[in-house]
Amino acid sequence: MPVRDISQASFFDPQFVDPTCIEPGSLTWLIRNYAWLLFPEWLFADWCGHGQRGRDAWPARVLMSTLLLRFLEGGMSRRAMARRLKTDIAWRAAAGLPIGGGSPDESIFRRFEKYLRRRDRASGQPRFLLLHEHILRVCIDAHLIDDRAIWVMDSTPMWCFGAVQGTVRLLGDGLRSLCGEWARLTKTSVVELATEWELPLLLAKSTKGGIKIDWRDPDARATAVDSVARDVLAVIGKVRRGLDDVRANKRKGLLRRCRALAKVIADDLEVDDEGRLFVARKTTSGRLVSITDLQARHGRKTRSVKFKGYRLHVLGDIVSGLIASISVTPATVGDSAPAGRLIRRAQRVVTQLRQVLGDTAYGGAELHLVTRKVDGVDILAPPVPVSRRPTDRFNSTHFDIDVPGGEARCPGGVIVELRQTPKTRRFSWSKATCDACPLRAQCLTEKASSKTLLANKNHEELLIIRERWSDAEIRTHYRLRTQGERLVNQVVRYGGRKAMAWGLSTAVLQANLIAIRSNLGILARHLADNLELQENIAKEGGPAPPDPVRLVA
Ligand code: SF4
Repeated sequence: MPVRDISQASFFDPQFVDPTCIEPGSLTWLIRNYAWLLFPEWLFADWCGHGQRGRDAWPARVLMSTLLLRFLEGGMSRRAMARRLKTDIAWRAAAGLPIGGGSPDESIFRRFEKYLRRRDRASGQPRFLLLHEHILRVCIDAHLIDDRAIWVMDSTPMWCFGAVQGTVRLLGDGLRSLCGEWARLTKTSVVELATEWELPLLLAKSTKGGIKIDWRDPDARATAVDSVARDVLAVIGKVRRGLDDVRANKRKGLLRRCRALAKVIADDLEVDDEGRLFVARKTTSGRLVSITDLQARHGRKTRSVKFKGYRLHVLGDIVSGLIASISVTPATVGDSAPAGRLIRRAQRVVTQLRQVLGDTAYGGAELHLVTRKVDGVDILAPPVPVSRRPTDRFNSTHFDIDVPGGEARCPGGVIVELRQTPKTRRFSWSKATCDACPLRAQCLTEKASSKTLLANKNHEELLIIRERWSDAEIRTHYRLRTQGERLVNQVVRYGGRKAMAWGLSTAVLQANLIAIRSNLGILARHLADNLELQENIAKEGGPAPPDPVRLVA
């Protein structure tokens, strides 16, 4: 079989010319003309496509171009992407494929995605991050970012790919999936397994359909939940005891499934007085929402709006619209948790990053302190409100608190010392003191007998944030933050609202590809309008780009 290589001779054959096939300023136009600049060989040096033979030997440029075009209009499945590459003439031109030839299939793209997720040996960074940084550098060289840049951080929900299920279906579907895998690995049939382990549920088409009860009857429902949960526990025990019967490289996957099912039972169920397992009426942090997407979690966008899956975090410049760093976390992780990481990643390329605007979620004192001292970046965000409910009583701002000095003075003038326990640090005013105080009605609620304030270890920083926030000029500048919603909209528009495959790592890759695609869209429009820049790039950065693409009609 011959070595596969990029051959574009047919695109420049005068008899195939159609000048309007690829619009200048579009993503396809940019990739087609500047692939040498966007996907340099050093980025994909160890990809097996270089100089190899056979079905896997597709050049990285072909695969990378197509992965970015996948998010051209809002995202599509891997299969749809591979199918479109076969027939879409603009896509083939961008990927550098000849008309009418073959194209990579879905499995090659899956393999290439895996390659992108692996860490580069030299830098230790995942390869998709290196590509994102490289594209950002290209954008900076094209003068898209200048001193006027205003950096904003924000987050948005990202729904998981796996089916979101309730407790009964999590247990039932998980049980069926675990038994199916066990039957496959031990070379028995599911029918035999269902008979041997006395699990008729394995032969049903669905979990709820296989349990013949009236689901509106609470007693019947409780009995069914108990029965399914006990079946799950019994099967977990059998699988664990019989692990020696399966191949060593398959044991890890089986144990992962067992752990997931055990977690559902531990998090979602409780034991009643009669010893029956029932679905608990409580909230547990980190509950599973899907048996196929094990990192997806319950999350809240606001107090009343909930979502299930992941949270997507973006840091970008609202002037140019470029996204400097992007990340995905389980939905339970708060906005501020990955903020430091986002800033540090952006700083690897954008050295002039000195201030970032964020909403109240980024108003915590610890985040401000760490980013200022460690990263030299000032976060401008409203301070976390003192109280969630508005009240006319005294709050912590009315108290004179000195955490390093270890004392606090209340509005009544009483000074108390800091009390420390292994878990908390607090200031407490005794019942006798408060009862004798003339300001009691303004300080305490009717039910409270005394006053306690938790000591924030970063109290000084909190005061600085509050002080700064009272400056009208700063608040006026902060109004620009609302434009940061455009960055989030960009990501959502190109397919960031829903993960397109199982697992957190694929969601992270998807988010980064979307960010790269978004940045390239901006670069394409900028380059198409700027002939001088095109000339400079051609002069300074390797071979000159080809003439505007002209394709077969
Ligand atoms: S009620 Fe207690 S804490 Fe409040 S001002 Fe009076 S003495 Fe101080």
